Amino acid sequence: MATKRDYYEILGVAKGASQDEIKKAYRKIAIKYHPDKNPDDPSAEDKFKEAAEAYEVLSDEQKRQRYDQFGHQGVNGGGFGGGGGMNMEDIFSQFGDIFGGGGGGFESFFGGGGQRGGKRMRKGSNLRIKLKLNLEEVAKGVEKKIKVKRYESCQVCDGNGSKNGSSLQTCGTCQGQGQVKRVVNTMLGQMVSSSTCPTCHGEGKMVTQKCDACHGEGRQLREEVISINVPAGVADGMQLSMSGKGNVPERGGIPGDLLIQIEEEHHPTLRRDGNNVMFEQYVSFVDATLGASVEVPTIEGKVKIKIDPGTQSGKILRLRGKGIPDINGYGRGDQLIHINVWTPKNVNAEERQILERLRDSQNFTPNPGKNEKGFFEKMKEYFQ
Ligand SMILES: [Zn+2]
Ligand SMILES: [Zn+2]
Repeated sequence: MATKRDYYEILGVAKGASQDEIKKAYRKIAIKYHPDKNPDDPSAEDKFKEAAEAYEVLSDEQKRQRYDQFGHQGVNGGGFGGGGGMNMEDIFSQFGDIFGGGGGGFESFFGGGGQRGGKRMRKGSNLRIKLKLNLEEVAKGVEKKIKVKRYESCQVCDGNGSKNGSSLQTCGTCQGQGQVKRVVNTMLGQMVSSSTCPTCHGEGKMVTQKCDACHGEGRQLREEVISINVPAGVADGMQLSMSGKGNVPERGGIPGDLLIQIEEEHHPTLRRDGNNVMFEQYVSFVDATLGASVEVPTIEGKVKIKIDPGTQSGKILRLRGKGIPDINGYGRGDQLIHINVWTPKNVNAEERQILERLRDSQNFTPNPGKNEKGFFEKMKEYFQ
């Protein structure tokens, strides 16, 4: 996985930048690196796309929040190949918003006569689902099969909505172009703005006789079992996306995406902290004094650990590599076992007698040495 640059860095804005500042910064970069303006510089298009992607995320408060929290992973999905990278079609659809064109794409962005715009491939709506995972599934990664209801292309009319596939007519308003053009004056000079044809809604064609199976929609709602490969290391609230697994739009086009929001189930004994797994182990003060062997749960099953003689309460034992794998492949977390020495709440007469005898014993008098690290010292050591 190639390392991606920080979106704020790409646009050259501060983390707390306002939407206005983000828009301005993006506009500057888009003008500078527009491919039509830099025909001899192949890196310009990459920079142009990179900026478009950054803007796409930062201009959307929800996506921006996810990005702030989870980084690229939060907005691009975990190894699904669906997210990330925008195509030129997506980028040009942003410009209506950025350059005040209102809707359609600019056919000739800098008067260069490019072939942008024209009949536009429509994209269907996204499907959103929630996916519950337990800690073991998060740690190992898992393949989940889920049933979704999504619009798929009608098999009877092959998706065009017309009866017997024969009765499609070219739209008279746009002559089949799907768009109507108009010249507008903008801050970048005169441009040809095209907007979606109001008669055929951009399709260029009209259905005269509707398909019986889909009533002219060209799509049908069907139940499908989709297999989702969840990578190891995902976290609660993360969103994965599978491109093309959303709804097919009416009468053909690109299907939307399936957006999968991860929900992590509570584990009965283990608690997750980033990529580490925490466990509270209680031991009797007899075991803490004399040493013992105890079984602790881990995400891979039970493991025996040794409690050394003379173990103090609050000690943290580390099982290296027994945590959650990093989603970006940067190693794996640990399991941290926090030792709590259990102090009895009730004692019977016999126990009291024994303990009373030990009360003044010198070995039972607290005598912390230099090696006994206090609570704050330990926090520093394990959580920095
Ligand atoms: Zn049909
Ligand atoms: Zn039309």
